[in-house]
Amino acid sequence: MDFDAISSFLEKSAGRGENVWQLNSLSAIANHRIPDVVTGIQDTLLRADMTTLWTQWFLESICDPERFVERYPCYSHIVHAVNAEAPLIFATVDINKREELVKQISRLINDEVRRRQSRKRTAFDLRIKQYLWDVYGSEHRCWICGYQFSRWAIDKFLERTISEELRIPQFIDYLKPHGLNKRDFQIEIDHVFPFAEGGDEKPENLRLACGWCNSHKAGRLSIYDVAAQPLIALHPQKGTVSIPHPFWVVRVLSLRRHCEHEKGCSKALENSELTVTPRHPDGSMNPTNLRVTCIEHDSIGSARLVSRLVGGQMWKK
Ligand SMILES: [Zn+2]
Ligand SMILES: [Zn+2]
Repeated sequence: MDFDAISSFLEKSAGRGENVWQLNSLSAIANHRIPDVVTGIQDTLLRADMTTLWTQWFLESICDPERFVERYPCYSHIVHAVNAEAPLIFATVDINKREELVKQISRLINDEVRRRQSRKRTAFDLRIKQYLWDVYGSEHRCWICGYQFSRWAIDKFLERTISEELRIPQFIDYLKPHGLNKRDFQIEIDHVFPFAEGGDEKPENLRLACGWCNSHKAGRLSIYDVAAQPLIALHPQKGTVSIPHPFWVVRVLSLRRHCEHEKGCSKALENSELTVTPRHPDGSMNPTNLRVTCIEHDSIGSARLVSRLVGGQMWKK
């Protein structure tokens, strides 16, 4: 993309003044192709999560799954509802082909209803824990951030006598504040596809995660599932700083899975704990500015670590 295209895109799309309340100004923004430099290294993530969200909105606008959560089975009702709207939505689609789209959409909405129905979680017993530990525990690391589990966490997880007390570090990483709560150090069983969203409890959907990653991942699936702006905090040396929403960190780490240093690096979640660093040092810590890093290639240096007391204040809600 050349100078003209980027410059004209910025001219039309930047700024959030009165234009956001004028429909013709919005058309100019909507019709512009987004230059690759805008979405940057997180291009795939930003576009995929947005597409997923739009698709979900589209399906639910035709027939709201929430209406059926309490009264299943409901497939025929969903088909009826979708069928009633089909001539309006697919006016240009051949009438014989509409039926196929009605079926496809009805199935997707039906799947969503089933996902939302409350299911009983399994209380993971020691046998399952031991199995998961044997399958996934060889590196003793969180599958999302690479944090290495301590002896305390392993003993606790495998229900053994605690052989070593937990040593709580005095400093924390202010961009990935793992360690403010005791839960952060625990080993927890994470549903890769969240249970609340319909994820099953077969071992293929289960991994071992630290409590910090697991609590921030929770039932979320998309970077747009949390507030759009980074949080703001006061850093003892840097002054006012922006800090990424923890879920953005979790999402970026678990997808990129290795240090993204320009010159290459062998550090990956399987062998190291990773964190995020700004791609542009003076930039806001929004998803487009997050780069996965190992400690060796960290661009922030000593300012990354703050005392637990300061960290607690920075992250106080
Ligand atoms: Zn973790
Ligand atoms: Zn590295």
